Amino acid sequence: MSKQTSNLVMAMLHARSGQLENGDPISPPIVTTAKYALSGTPNTPYTYGRDINPTVEAAEAAISALEQAPVVAFPSGMAAITAGLMATAKAGDRILVPSDGYYVTRVLLEEILGSHDILFDAIPTKSFATADLSAYDVVWVETPSNPGLDLCSIRSVAESAKNADATLIVDNTTLTPLLQRPLDLGADMVVSSDTKAMAGHSDCLYGHIATRSEALYQKAWRWRKVSGSIPDPFASFLVHRGLMTLELRLQRMCDNAHSLIDRLDSHDAIKILKYPGVGFVIGLTFENETMAERFIDDCPAIFASTSFGGVHTSAERRARWGDDVADGFVRLSVGCEPTDALIEAIEATLETL
Ligand code: PLP
Repeated sequence: MSKQTSNLVMAMLHARSGQLENGDPISPPIVTTAKYALSGTPNTPYTYGRDINPTVEAAEAAISALEQAPVVAFPSGMAAITAGLMATAKAGDRILVPSDGYYVTRVLLEEILGSHDILFDAIPTKSFATADLSAYDVVWVETPSNPGLDLCSIRSVAESAKNADATLIVDNTTLTPLLQRPLDLGADMVVSSDTKAMAGHSDCLYGHIATRSEALYQKAWRWRKVSGSIPDPFASFLVHRGLMTLELRLQRMCDNAHSLIDRLDSHDAIKILKYPGVGFVIGLTFENETMAERFIDDCPAIFASTSFGGVHTSAERRARWGDDVADGFVRLSVGCEPTDALIEAIEATLETL
C-alpha cells in the first residue's frame, strides 16, 4: 500500500475518534429524527432533518477523509449526479459526456435537463484527451468507462477543461478515492455511486459529491436542502460501516481480479478479455448471448445481478440494458471470495460452455 493510501485509510478510520469523549459510542448512533429541539432564535445548525443529520454527517466525515475534500452525501449515485449537474450547469450551457459511460447520466440530460435548455454532446471516453473542449461549460468524465472499461487521462482533460474555462466533473464510482484521485489530478468535482464498492455489501443505495471549491460545495449543499435529497440515517450507518473495510475489500477484490486475468486471458471460451489495469471490474466477451448467459447462470460463484462493487462476485450481460457493447459482453465484478475457490468455480464453468 502506498504511503498516501495508508494515510487516507488512517484518516478515514479515525475520523470520529478526535471528537469522542469518554462514554461516547465508537460507531455513529443511528439518529432518526425529523426535528430537533429548537426554541427562540436558531443558534444551532441542527434545525430540521431535511438539512442535517448526525449519522449522515458521520458518513460524510469518513468519505471526506478519503477524498481530502468537503463532501455532500445523497440517497443514491444518481441523486449525487443530479446535484453535481445542478450545482454546475445553467440554462444555455453545453455539457460534454461520455457516450460509453453510465447510461442513466445521459438519460437525465436528455429527458430532464434538456427541457431546461441544458444541452449535451456525447463522445467516446477514449476521445476525451484530444477533444476540443472550447464549446463546453461542463465536462463529464468517467474513467474507466462503465461498462466498456475504456480510459482517458484525467490530468490531460483537466488541463484542456481549464483552458476552455469549463468545470470538470469525474464520476469515480468504479475506482473509489483509494484507487483514483480525480481532485488531485485537477478535477473540480467528484461524484460517486457509493452503492457500489464504497458501501460494498449491496445492501443500500448512496452517493456523494466531493469538491474543494467552496462555491460548488455550497451550491450542492443548497441543492440537497432545497430539493429534499438528504440520505436516510440507516443507509448512512451502513455506508459508514462498509467504509471501515473498504481498503481490505478492495485489496482482495483487486488481487482476485488479477489472479483471474492471469488464468482466463487465454481461455478458449473467452473471445476478448478487457481489464483497465486497476480495479475489480473485468469485461469478458463471449461468442454470443447464449454462451454469456450460460456462464453467468451456471457458475455457482457468480451472482447474476446488475450493479458491481459488492463482496460477492456478480455479473451481467450489459447489452440487455441497451449499452453499446457486444451481445456476448459480460461485466464481471470480482468480489471478496477466497481466490482459489473463485478461480476454480469460474474455470470449471468455462469448461462446460
Ligand atoms: N455512476 C456509475 C458509474 C454507475 O455505474 C451507477 C450505477 O450503476 C451510477 C453512477 C448510479 O448510481 P446509483 O445506482 O447509486 O444511483
